[in-house]
Amino acid sequence: PSPLIQEYGLVVLGPGGVGKSALIINFQRGEFLEVYDPTIEDNYTHECIIDGENALLDILDSAGQDEYSAMQDHYIRGGQGFIIVYSIASLDSLNQVKARVAKIRRLKQTNRCPIVIIGNKCDLGEERRQVSYREGEAFAKKSGAAFFEASAKSGHNVADAFYQCIRQIRMHRRLT
Ligand code: GDP
Ligand code: MG
Repeated sequence: PSPLIQEYGLVVLGPGGVGKSALIINFQRGEFLEVYDPTIEDNYTHECIIDGENALLDILDSAGQDEYSAMQDHYIRGGQGFIIVYSIASLDSLNQVKARVAKIRRLKQTNRCPIVIIGNKCDLGEERRQVSYREGEAFAKKSGAAFFEASAKSGHNVADAFYQCIRQIRMHRRLT
């Protein structure tokens, strides 16, 4: 990469099964893998141009960490932007995500940390929905985070959500 390229460290967090890995794969390769090993934890790199500026993204796909894990603290301390995922088909996943946002605020000791909240699986039928759009949006607003409903399956809003996180990191860097 050119010496001018900016690097961005993103951490994708959320309970198991909400589609963290599927979202990253969709973003990186534009495809949907139906089955993905839930225990795999990996780093992905992705180069792209966002708003005319080159970006090298280093994306951490976290897996299997509970709220109290020291590993999760370590990831949060190292991350510059956070994509926090719940499933619109699981109210429980939204509730679990709330604790993670609080933890990021606590560990980063700032209210301005770049966070994007994704309500994933929005391709599912309304009969499967347990979290309304307004409920997700209200939680994001209260958290000072950007909000998208997205689908790793259809690709809806996936790139927009990742790009928004990069925009927030850029703004954050300009201010600090
Ligand atoms: P992770 O544990 O958060 O990494 O979740 P995975 O990416 O492994 O996905 C868990 C399950 O949800 C898999 O069976 C996926 O096929 C499915 N899944 C992930 N994203 C979507 C989505 O946007 N829509 C639908 N319908 N299923 C999804
Ligand atoms: Mg996974």
